[in-house]
Amino acid sequence: MKTDFDAAIVGGGFAGMYMLHRLRMLGFSARVIEAGKGVGGTWYWNRYPGARCDVESVQYSYQFSRELEQEWEWTERYATQPEILKYANHVADRFDLRRDITFETRVTEASFDEADNVWIVETDNGGRFVARFLIAATGCLSSPNTPKIPGLADFRGPTYHTGNWPHEGVDFTPSTVGVIGTGSSAIQSIPIIARQARHLTVFQRTANYTVPAHNRPLDPDYVREVKATYPEMRRRAKSLPAGIDLKVNMASAIETPDRERARLFQERWDYGGLGFMAAFSDLLLNDESNKTAADFVRAKIHEIVRDPATAELLSPKNIIGCKRLCVDTAYWETFNRPNVTLVDVSEPPIDRIAPDGLHAGGREYKFDTLVLATGFDAMTGALLKVDIRGRKGRSLRDKWREGPTTYLGLTMAGFPNLFAITGPGSPSVLTNMLPSIEQHVDWIAECLQTLRAKGARVIEATDAAEQDWVAHVGQVAGATLRSSCSSWYVGANIPGKPRVFMPYIGGLPAYIERCEAVVKADYEGFSISA
Ligand code: FAD
Ligand code: NAP
Repeated sequence: MKTDFDAAIVGGGFAGMYMLHRLRMLGFSARVIEAGKGVGGTWYWNRYPGARCDVESVQYSYQFSRELEQEWEWTERYATQPEILKYANHVADRFDLRRDITFETRVTEASFDEADNVWIVETDNGGRFVARFLIAATGCLSSPNTPKIPGLADFRGPTYHTGNWPHEGVDFTPSTVGVIGTGSSAIQSIPIIARQARHLTVFQRTANYTVPAHNRPLDPDYVREVKATYPEMRRRAKSLPAGIDLKVNMASAIETPDRERARLFQERWDYGGLGFMAAFSDLLLNDESNKTAADFVRAKIHEIVRDPATAELLSPKNIIGCKRLCVDTAYWETFNRPNVTLVDVSEPPIDRIAPDGLHAGGREYKFDTLVLATGFDAMTGALLKVDIRGRKGRSLRDKWREGPTTYLGLTMAGFPNLFAITGPGSPSVLTNMLPSIEQHVDWIAECLQTLRAKGARVIEATDAAEQDWVAHVGQVAGATLRSSCSSWYVGANIPGKPRVFMPYIGGLPAYIERCEAVVKADYEGFSISA
């Protein structure tokens, strides 16, 4: 069968864009198929008020092009969604990517033809592409989760999901608003919605930890210094588990005297951002150490929030850092506003949505605009929305019935020539995603180059290699507190989803080393054929 391209890339976010560029540079033909009207993925869809990165902008950026790195000017410590989207568009223009992207097209099916060793890709508008390789750049957090709450369809006013926000924006000025959820998206948007709305009611199922961002405009001298030393910063970042260049204190929290420990937490709190969890090395290794950090944040909540009952309700009871830590601007302070009400919907849960509000715990709450900040079917959601069929017509949905299984988070046994960028079983969402994306793209590009050099057309993970990797991913997950709570990392936010800790928690350096060792050993764990 004649191929249309060497590679079909599904998704035009940061992963799909760089994959296209990289393959083109190597002389492969490729096409990106993207459901949205533009590039940017996450930053194209998540346009809710307050959306911004929580990894500092100078690090949450591509490093594959020194020129790009030097010419782009980030203006804030944590860039806003519009600025990040502008960056994505700049990259698309600079590297002339759009001519190989098909927009407004969703891939619905992809099947491997064993006779010709090609992927046949079908789209929602009747399109059909044939490609040697299929590369899923579909995103870890790109399939919005709309909970099945009875009555949702009957709500009379507008309903918005943070993960699919209207492009024209929303003005909440005259409205009364209900927000369901208190994850990162809610924590970023609630302070801004509260400033606009006549009244805001926040429906909280699980209280969440957040630390201040202390966002600010970037000092031009600082930016100059970063640009002058970018390679060193990127190298330091790659040597740390989360791929973020930040100060890590190797001391144990419980072995540090109380006053010194409090001083160090305060220092991190004043600095702001995700580095709070690097205040000590054992915060995610044992309950006692973790409790010292959790207690520190809980005390802050009680200090900031004036009403003690609201402060207590806002205080998380679980492990800090088990769910992804949030980074906010004036989140706790928002609950001191007279126009904001917090409602506990943990037990009993929301009973139903009514045309003019919702019912929970035997009470009725009225509002005219509903915001669902209810997250995503993370890591596997977007991939499994596509009917992917490998050898003998076996579907990925069937293979992953008990949870995702991959080799290196990149490939799947039984699905030759299929690659997933930041797939389950790779560090992905536990890291600064940009370097993780680049590492995967580079690995895939090198793999395709090697196949071409060998005159080979098919690569496939062996069952044994996949089983070993899955066992390793599970084993390292069990060693941290992170796998111990109900989070989207384990699929707990989606009813019926198998409970498996999906990302690889062994850290970026160990992971990169393993990926490189596999290549050095002539693609150990893969079978390669003509
Ligand atoms: P995405 O950006 O999700 O792009 C995937 C694309 O694939 C989407 O455009 C989607 O439309 C398309 N697609 C999916 N399925 C199909 C299909 N079947 N057919 C056609 N197209 C399809 N990470 C960080 O490291 N730091 C941060 O600060 C950070 N902040 C975030 C903030 C928010 C609000 C969210 C939701 C995530 C954040 N992340 C952050 C994670 C973020 O998703 C990644 O950093 C990164 O943007 C992912 O890029 P991607 O290209 O892999 O996926
Ligand atoms: P999320 O963390 O999954 O939060 C979803 C929220 O909705 C949770 O509070 C959840 O409660 C609640 N919820 C879901 N279904 C519900 C129901 N039926 N009833 C009541 N409450 C319900 O999703 P998110 O906030 O969109 O963030 C997802 C991830 O995207 C983040 O963890 C992060 O990785 C990334 N992100 C990053 C940033 C950033 O700062 N740069 C911003 C946004 C998102 P439970 O906790 O009880 O499940």
